[in-house]
Amino acid sequence: MPTDPIYLDYSATAPLRREAREAMLPYMEGCFGNPSSLHRWGREARAALDDARDRLAAVIGAAPSEVVFTRGGTEADNMAVLGRAHCMPQAPVVCSAIEHKAVLATVKAAARLTGAPFHVVPVDGDGVVREEQVYALLEEKPSVVSVMWANNEVGAVQPIERLADRCKEAGVSFHTDAVQAFGKLPVRVDEVPVSLLSVSAHKVGGPRGVGALFVRKGTRLHPLIYGGSQERGLRPGTEDVAGAVGLAVAAELAVRDREADMVRLGALRDRLEAGLRAAIPDLVVNAATAKRLATVLSVCIPGADAGALIPALDLEGIAASGGSACSSGSSEPSYVLVAMGLDGQVAAPSARFSLGKETTAEEIERVLATVPAVVERLRSFASA
Ligand code: PLP
Repeated sequence: MPTDPIYLDYSATAPLRREAREAMLPYMEGCFGNPSSLHRWGREARAALDDARDRLAAVIGAAPSEVVFTRGGTEADNMAVLGRAHCMPQAPVVCSAIEHKAVLATVKAAARLTGAPFHVVPVDGDGVVREEQVYALLEEKPSVVSVMWANNEVGAVQPIERLADRCKEAGVSFHTDAVQAFGKLPVRVDEVPVSLLSVSAHKVGGPRGVGALFVRKGTRLHPLIYGGSQERGLRPGTEDVAGAVGLAVAAELAVRDREADMVRLGALRDRLEAGLRAAIPDLVVNAATAKRLATVLSVCIPGADAGALIPALDLEGIAASGGSACSSGSSEPSYVLVAMGLDGQVAAPSARFSLGKETTAEEIERVLATVPAVVERLRSFASA
């Protein structure tokens, strides 16, 4: 009898929550006005956008005027890094070696565009940024320091509170990509003095292609695109009202349920980790001793063909990811694992299982009953 497939790729994207979808529908149908229009249709759309901004701001502890809606996490990251680099074109740009490409590639592009240097700070074997090296670079007065709150591939949580404090003391803008941490860790800008913070709706059960950048009052930022005065001129263009509503609703629900969900999912992740370790004794758990997101398990499986592992799991009905989804499809070793000191050979056959709202204990048992046999089969092919 065929069994239902098992989705363990929530870090790549999560399904749209029913409540978010229902809240969005009116703004895709009857209430179609342009929020800049002065008539009733426009006012209705403006009220929904204002309400979404108020609600998202409340969830992260910001003032509504500090929330800029964007076209997703990538755009928020670009806006933060390039926006700061253009404000201080002579100054270096700093980030960690395990940033998502949305930051890493943008830091490099910023340096190309301004001619200023950039520094990519290494991480330790657990994927945690070498913070002393960041602090040493503060002397150079960078335009921005960007360190993600939690890594998308191995789940390692970064020392964001200390980094933000030290950057604030030094008068340097600090950006954190909180796309993976949001909804899984307490992410509050009234408790941590970040200057800029990115979130993305689709990681927390909102729509894809929608995100937001928190810009603390007083943080100077150049816009990347030009046009009207929407989003305080930082993100011109007619706003996606339905998307903003979906983000706000999904964010509220994720934060409301966070503690209970993380306890439940952390226990399931630990069960998966222990079961895989027992069945595959030479399996390596990445970032094993770091503080990790409760939802992520990243493993290296020596001897299994890197390019074959994820498709083989998919054939068995298990959706996992080889490193991050953005670099899947290539069997290049993950740059995150390489930065953590795992050499290409070990780093290549990696799998990330990421759990979410709908993950069940029964699914985890089915994964445990399936993965060891898949690995054994791949290893026998590899050695044949
Ligand atoms: N930053 C991190 C840490 C991510 O994991 C992702 C998505 O995988 C992004 C940024 C990009 O977000 P979006 O898909 O909304 O552009």
